[in-house]
This record gives sequence, C-alpha cells and structure tokens, in this order.
Amino acid sequence: MKTWIPDSRNFAYLSWKQVDQLPREQTLLVLPTAAIEQHGHHLPLATDTLINNLLLGKALERLPTELPIFALPPVCYGKSNEHIGFPGTLSVSAQTFLAVVRDLGASIAASGFKKLVLYNTHGGNTSLVDVIARDLRAEFGLRTFTLFGSAGAAFEGVSPQERAYGFHAGEVETAFLLHGVPELVHRSEFTSNYIARVDAPELLKPEGSSANFAWLTKDIAPSGVLGNPAPATAENGEKWANEASARVADALLAMFHFEPHHGA
Ligand SMILES: [Zn+2]
Repeated sequence: MKTWIPDSRNFAYLSWKQVDQLPREQTLLVLPTAAIEQHGHHLPLATDTLINNLLLGKALERLPTELPIFALPPVCYGKSNEHIGFPGTLSVSAQTFLAVVRDLGASIAASGFKKLVLYNTHGGNTSLVDVIARDLRAEFGLRTFTLFGSAGAAFEGVSPQERAYGFHAGEVETAFLLHGVPELVHRSEFTSNYIARVDAPELLKPEGSSANFAWLTKDIAPSGVLGNPAPATAENGEKWANEASARVADALLAMFHFEPHHGA
C-alpha cells in the first residue's frame, strides 16, 4: 500500500533494540483503523485506508522531530457490513475487530508503552473504537485516545447537503484522492445518491440523532455512493488535506502532553 508516513515515524521500520530505547512513558503510538470496501464506481476499495495514511503522514511531518510519536501499521480491515453485496468489500465482524485491536493493545502494554491513539477513518468502526478505547484503558491501564477522520476540519465550500449527508465516496473523500492518488480516481464514473435531505428533514435520521434507522448502502445507493463527488477538485483536496492534517497534528500534540485532572 502507498504510504505518506515518514520513514522516521514508522514504528514497524524500527528494530526491537531501537524500540527498547524509546521512552516508554512518553512515547505516543498511533494505530490507524480503516476499511477495504466499495467506494462507488469511481474510487478504490482502499479509499479510507489511503485517506488515513495521507492525513496521518502529513500530520506527523508537522510535528517536532524530537517528539517520540510513531504510526503503527494500519488495521486495514474494518466493520464494513453496511457495504456487503458490493464485490470487493472485505469486512470483519464487530467481534473480530474488537479482538484484533484488543490483542494489539495487549502487545503494546506488554512492551511497556503507556499511550495509544486509535485514529479511525471509517464510519462503520466508530462505535467500536469508542468501546475498545475504554476497554484498553480499563484492562491494561493504557492511556488511550480516539481521533476521527479530519479531526473537525471545516471544509470550506462544501454545500450543507453534502456536509450533512456526503457519507461515503462523496466530495471530500474524492477530493482527497484527487490530491493524493489521482491515478486511482475514475473521473468519468461519478454517481450521486443521498440517504436524506437537509431541506426535507425527517424525524428518523440515518445516524447521529436521538432517533435513527439502521441502513445498508444497497438499500439506498445502487452505485455505492452516498454523497455527490461531482464538485470535487484536486485543489480543494490539497487545501482540505493540509487543514485536516494540521488539526490531526494539533490533536496528537494535545494527546502527547495530556495530563488528566484529578478531582480534589
Ligand atoms: Zn470512505
């Protein structure tokens, strides 16, 4: 898989002796979690994994070189059963995903490290990442953190409809890939579907509300796209990737320096 992670920040490029020399208490390890799943007619299966790697790699480049912050190899396979029925989607169950991340957390704790970030760029993993972050804290005493997608970047210029319901293979994901791996984007094959409309709000929402319905992509979007990739440009992809990676870098710095407050 193509990578933007600087070699000096790639944990798996170290020897065990180099790992042994890292300051255990301070070192911050980042475990990317993503997916290999359909992304419409126009984007590759690895879209979420590539975006994770692009944003994390650019973020790590921004950090002061002396800080011991490393990227672990990604967990590429995620819980993608919302995209089952589309050829190429490779999904693991919630139980498998939780077990893999738990076992990696156990190995990290056994190596003496204390601080782990779960950096997730696939929506189907989000609730599992929340669960396992707390479990790793409780079971192994790891100081765990969660970090998602573009870490709250603003994406200036994206329409309210796309902002609310551009869930998958829409404008932002397409722009990131037009910037990072334009050779993998099939520009003549854009399609568009929306799961809901901001101008016709319903009581039941697809997610993130107090009353939601569980959805499968094949019920809503025959092409596999949830959003509209048509306005995406490489220029916006570069601008948004820079903004997002700056926010990811800020979040990593805050995690590196985090000291929990103790009640009086
Ligand atoms: Zn995606």
